[in-house]
This record gives sequence, C-alpha cells and structure tokens, in this order.
Amino acid sequence: MTHAIGLFGGTFDPIHNAHLRMAEAFRDECRLAEVRLIPAGQPYHRAQAPHATPEQRLAMVKLAIADRPGLVADEREVHRPRPAYTVETLEEVRAEVGAEVPLWLLIGGDSLATLDRWRRWRELFALAHVAVALRPGFDPATLPAAVRHEWQTRQVPDFPNRTPSGTIRPLALPPVALSATDIRARLARGDDVSTLIPAPVLAYLRAHGLYQR
Ligand code: ATP
Repeated sequence: MTHAIGLFGGTFDPIHNAHLRMAEAFRDECRLAEVRLIPAGQPYHRAQAPHATPEQRLAMVKLAIADRPGLVADEREVHRPRPAYTVETLEEVRAEVGAEVPLWLLIGGDSLATLDRWRRWRELFALAHVAVALRPGFDPATLPAAVRHEWQTRQVPDFPNRTPSGTIRPLALPPVALSATDIRARLARGDDVSTLIPAPVLAYLRAHGLYQR
C-alpha cells in the first residue's frame, strides 16, 4: 500500500473530540498510513492570540493521540521562530517525503470558505490533496467563486492516492457542532466538558489552570 501521509494543522487550543474524529475519519477515508497533527505556533490569521502556549497545546495534542493508531504529533511549527504559512509547511514536508508520496491536507469547511485569503493558496493543490471536514451549515454555494471552482472541478469519485496531489475530497464524517471556542467558554463557566475532550487533556488543563475563570 502507498504510504500516504495526512497533515492536520490547527490551533488546538485545546484539542477536542471533533478534531480527533476528523483525524480518524481522515486517516480511514483517505487511506493514510499516518496523520500528523501540527499545532500552530502563532498563526497569522487569528486576530486573537491563542490562550495556551504552543508548548501546552502540543502537550495536549500528544496526550489526546497517545492511544490512537496512525496519529502522530508534528512539532515543527511550535519550535519555529516565526509563524508559518500552510504552503510553506507543505513545501517543507514535500521536500522531505519526495515527489511521489500522496500528501493530504485536512481543513474544516470554515477554513475552506476563506481559502482564497491564504498565502499562495492555489499552490496548495500542486503540493497536496485537500480533505474537507464539513461543519454544520456548510453550503458550497456560499464559497467565494474561485474556491467554489476548485471545489467543483477537483473532486474525483474513484479511489484516492492515484496521484501525489491535486484533488479535493469532502469527508463523509457527519458534521460535528463543536469548537475550541465553545470549549473554552464552557470551561470558563465551570461547565462539565468531560464528553467533549479526552480525559488526559482535561486533567492537563486543570493541572495547568488553563481556560479557567
Ligand atoms: P477555535 O474555536 O479556537 O477557532 P476550532 O475548534 O475551530 O478552534 P482549530 O484548532 O482552529 O479548532 O481547528 C483546526 C482545524 O479543524 C480548522 O481547519 C477547523 O476548521 C477544523 N475544525 C475544528 N473543529 C471542527 C469541527 N467541529 N468540524 C469541522 N472542522 C473543524
């Protein structure tokens, strides 16, 4: 079997069960040998700084995936002295794995809606395939025209990984209404989030006093 590799970048502030469901659906549906979760250092596209440090977000990712086959943490962005654009990270990974290996980038439907504002976004498709986890309310008709065009023309019905890059694939995973923003708000209110994030992550953020009142 081809050693196809998936990349899942995110703020993971904190990582939650929807991220994990996405990562596993990504692994299985795109037939990936491994999915690398890449916590962002300090993303450009966020108006607000993350609430936990990059090291803490990485630690929570590692705790969350410890017993999940095929999921690994990739630390490259956490240790970078400056923020990384997705296209730069993809170029780096592509250079490491060579031209033939199928590479996949996983994004949420909300990220797809703003893809045309990402740096050198059209080049993403020359570097990787793109898998999209739809969020509740996703409607392709509302995508910016240039992104909608890619969405319509790059989907292929057959078995993935015939090529190293260039297709788009919506995950079949039903949309999950959960966000890190929501979890931070619940924690700040003192609500129970034990069904929304893995137990070791909950223990970690309690021990470090994260997201609390
Ligand atoms: P926040 O609420 O802080 O913006 P988030 O939960 O959306 O965080 P990120 O860590 O920024 O999480 O997400 C990483 C990627 O996962 C993004 O592409 C985002 O769109 C996607 N994502 C997160 N939660 C979901 C979800 N419930 N369904 C689909 N995609 C999601």
